[in-house]
Amino acid sequence: MGEHEFNKRSKTEELKPVSEIVTVPVPPIIDRETFDTVQKLLKARNPKVVPARVISGPTMLTGLIHCAKCGGAMTIRTGKGGRYRYYACSIKARQGPTACEGMAVPMEKLDDLVADHLEKQLLQPERLETILAVVLDRREERSERRREHIAFAGCRDSEEGHVRGGLQWRAGRAS
Ligand SMILES: [Zn+2]
Repeated sequence: MGEHEFNKRSKTEELKPVSEIVTVPVPPIIDRETFDTVQKLLKARNPKVVPARVISGPTMLTGLIHCAKCGGAMTIRTGKGGRYRYYACSIKARQGPTACEGMAVPMEKLDDLVADHLEKQLLQPERLETILAVVLDRREERSERRREHIAFAGCRDSEEGHVRGGLQWRAGRAS
């Protein structure tokens, strides 16, 4: 249970005497445990507290992008004693320029491009709403199907034994 204090400050923002403050208990919207957990998460993810690279891994796109020439994974290379960082084809790095003639891309440039695209194209509130609605609908549908399968398998359980029911439940999960 939280508390809210009315009439705490005067119009000039000065604290009023305690006798004039009205304290009203406010029922919590979320329970204390949830609140504390969320606060902890927010704190842990606050980029001002923890550097972004610790949260998102050392690089934004490692493991996500591939060389357009050969399809090899793009990994980080550094130049000028670590001052410049590039995404470069790992096949080319391992086997030399004869294996692949793909080019390296400055990490910052590509990260910015992708971040920009995400921000402008994907993370628009209206668009997100539509996309998420579709995704959530699909998930809802799937979990409903799963529940039906489990319920069905449960009926079988009592009729024909656990093995059959178990198999059907697994089949349901796989679909
Ligand atoms: Zn390549």
